[in-house]
Amino acid sequence: MRNLQELTRPNIWSLAPYSSARNEYSGHVAHVFLDANENPYNAPYNRYPDPLQLEVKGRLSRIKGVPAECIFLGNGSDEAIDLVYRCFCEPGKDNVVAICPTYGMYEVCADINNVEYRSVMLDDQYQVSAAKLLAAADSNTKAIWICSPNNPTGNSINRAEIVKVLERFDGLVIVDEAYIDFSSEKSILHELSQYPNLIVLHTMSKAWGSAAIRLGMAFAQKEIIDIFNKVKYPYNVNQLTQEQALSRLEDTVSVDRWVRMLIQERGRLMQAFAELPVCVKVYPTDANFFLAKMTDAQKIYDYLVEKGIIVRNRTRITLCHNCLRVTIGTKDENSELLGALRVYA
Ligand SMILES: *Cc1c(COP(=O)(O)O)cnc(C)c1O
Repeated sequence: MRNLQELTRPNIWSLAPYSSARNEYSGHVAHVFLDANENPYNAPYNRYPDPLQLEVKGRLSRIKGVPAECIFLGNGSDEAIDLVYRCFCEPGKDNVVAICPTYGMYEVCADINNVEYRSVMLDDQYQVSAAKLLAAADSNTKAIWICSPNNPTGNSINRAEIVKVLERFDGLVIVDEAYIDFSSEKSILHELSQYPNLIVLHTMSKAWGSAAIRLGMAFAQKEIIDIFNKVKYPYNVNQLTQEQALSRLEDTVSVDRWVRMLIQERGRLMQAFAELPVCVKVYPTDANFFLAKMTDAQKIYDYLVEKGIIVRNRTRITLCHNCLRVTIGTKDENSELLGALRVYA
């Protein structure tokens, strides 16, 4: 790997970060806070939240088996995605490589930051080789994006190829595991300490059932996390989100139950789809959604909308012609979808 200074934008490497009141005071027990121009009334929401979210990170550290100093928390994973560009990619000069099709935010954030985005097409099994990804990279490539399980295809990317990219690429490799809790594959997070160029993304938005609170996580070695912390907004995760995350993270039993139910329903729904006359193919998945090739995705999508059932029409996405992406809902919701499709004519 190029050393971290070579990978970081020079202005970010030399940046003196904003130092908030809550940053500067730490240590001594205090009870009179006259340092942050807060209003003393309307407790507890009159106070600025912990800028480094240490209580949430402490709990996540135990759940994920990663030291707190190797965790970044953001306003959704989307914040971490954007920070990769803002910290490491020089606009108009550097580039990134990603698989295609994949999660749209990698490209949107590249465009916003004026960073060249290089797509490497998946094969007909929705897989990619390390060689193909590496061939798309050059000396200005700062990062390679790998979403696994991948959105919108649902499958996991071959672990052996991901490891080869980690070993052979001299820049950052971001493995987005937003759907890892629904997968039979092991998280690559357990190998974090082996790879100084690895960034793993997780989120509270899917298995944890908390998309509304906007809490995403990036895991990496401390040196990378320190750079993210330097660039992020000082209070990027608000107090309400931190509180809700803490109580959600306490109840891992519910999450495990939700995941089990969703995986079971996923099996039932996919099998039923395979038997529908309007369904051409159901693609294998490791996520809480699956991709299905239909006879006419647009017509079926419009028909379902008429019935008040919304799935995601992916027909205009590369390699997804005539495909619908179906999120697994409750048993009743899934049955309603199936009922509607069975009477479609
Ligand atoms: C849903 C999703 C996320 C989660 O994004 P948040 O901003 O944390 O809600 C991240 N990556 C992928 C690939 C996703 O599909």
